[in-house]
Amino acid sequence: MNPTSTPQEPSFRDSVDLMFERAAALMDLPQGLREKIRICNATYTVRFGVRLRGEIHTFTGYRSVHSEHREPVKGGIRFAPAVDQDEVEALAALMTYKCALVEVPFGGSKGGLAIDPRQWDEDELERITRRFAYELIKRDLINPSQNVPAPDMGTGEREMAWIADQYRRMHTTDINADACVTGKPRSRGGISGRVEATGRGVQYSTQCFFREARDVEEAGLSQGLGGKRVVIQGLGNVGYHAAKFLSEEDGCRIVGIGERDGAIFREDGFSIEEVRAHLIETGGVKGFPGAAYVENGALALEADCDILIPAALEGVVTHANADKVKARLIVEAANGPLTAAADDMLRKKGVAIIPDMYANAGGVTVSYFEWVKNLSHIRFGRMQRRREEANSAMLIKSLEQMTGQAFPAELTERFLSGSSEIDLVRSGLDDTMRGAYGDMRELWRRREDVPDLRTAAYMIAIGRVADSYASLGI
Ligand code: NAD
Repeated sequence: MNPTSTPQEPSFRDSVDLMFERAAALMDLPQGLREKIRICNATYTVRFGVRLRGEIHTFTGYRSVHSEHREPVKGGIRFAPAVDQDEVEALAALMTYKCALVEVPFGGSKGGLAIDPRQWDEDELERITRRFAYELIKRDLINPSQNVPAPDMGTGEREMAWIADQYRRMHTTDINADACVTGKPRSRGGISGRVEATGRGVQYSTQCFFREARDVEEAGLSQGLGGKRVVIQGLGNVGYHAAKFLSEEDGCRIVGIGERDGAIFREDGFSIEEVRAHLIETGGVKGFPGAAYVENGALALEADCDILIPAALEGVVTHANADKVKARLIVEAANGPLTAAADDMLRKKGVAIIPDMYANAGGVTVSYFEWVKNLSHIRFGRMQRRREEANSAMLIKSLEQMTGQAFPAELTERFLSGSSEIDLVRSGLDDTMRGAYGDMRELWRRREDVPDLRTAAYMIAIGRVADSYASLGI
């Protein structure tokens, strides 16, 4: 057991292991193979110094490789003060299972740098990031064919651009250098829709749940996503996009938002753009006009709502507060927001949980598209878009000639436009999320001993990794 675990409250890493074991117990796997799949293959720890503000500062970073049953391995790099080996290993394990579940052909990895990015200016952060990247690149822990990072908490397009540039400087003749990292800006080899991808995937996963009348009814919710009252924790990349799309496109009402400095509530719902602007300007949610405010941001988790979306960090719903959660559906946008103890308690209460390894898989799915784009050196849609438009125009003309009637003007533009990169990315992501929900649900509904979507997700992922090992002869 991890030293930070208690019998009542397992650590993040132990929670992932417990959830794995619960699923594996329902499968017919040899013990040795089960153990091979569960354990983390390797974790590299690096300590490096950077001269800043007139003195040398030492930083500690990690890159864990959980499973190399497929390569490259994939997983974000987070910048956060409390990052440690256990956290990175738990996150790397989740990446293995996530990629397997959504059929993205990668193994699992994760990286972290113990740093509070808000304490450094942009130039300093660039020097620190490049130095960290240098340490990982020279050991092939960043490499287009072996290990491909992406953004996570505290990192984004900017950091990925620095990492890609650092790789290019160290591998000047690698024609596939752009594919060494995903989540890059569009102008530097990125793909349209990657920034929004994880939040977009959270939206699609929630839509999938609401398409299944029985799942909705058993959770004790009324049918239809429109009008549902949603509380979100963390309005960063993932939380902001999820809340924006659910409120602007699906008609949800965001009635509560928890952030570092407190939580705000408003029964008639927030404009996410306005709250985000306030957050960027003031650094918090406090003082947002027309909202009730409490200083303890964690109270958002206990607020009255239909859907709770924890989108900040792990281990926020524990045995201590799980009983106070009022939501009937939890969509795990963050990785590991529920401890194994909380997960048990909520399942017994009949709360539906869309598990992290599925709900936030939109990021790695679109990262996969970006990696393929980088390797193929061509933007999606470039060859076929105008051809599609010409075909549609011909079809319209033929219909008009055959019927003697004009094609409805309001439909013409939509019908005519060929697929752009963003259309294809969203279509591929939607298809992935629908496919994976269908796979999880089929197993969950078919086998009475599979208690929930999470267990089903783990079983599918473990089964696919096991098949891969079998074909490798292990
Ligand atoms: P981010 O750094 O963009 O945003 C995190 C947000 O959470 C920030 O607004 C921060 O202020 C807030 N926050 C931090 N501590 C908090 C606390 N104690 N209470 C309330 N709010 C708090 O990070 P992100 O990329 O949005 O990642 C969020 C979660 O989603 C993480 O668990 C991450 O692993 C997971 N995730 C991210 C991606 C991705 O593509 N970025 C993909 C998959 C999973």
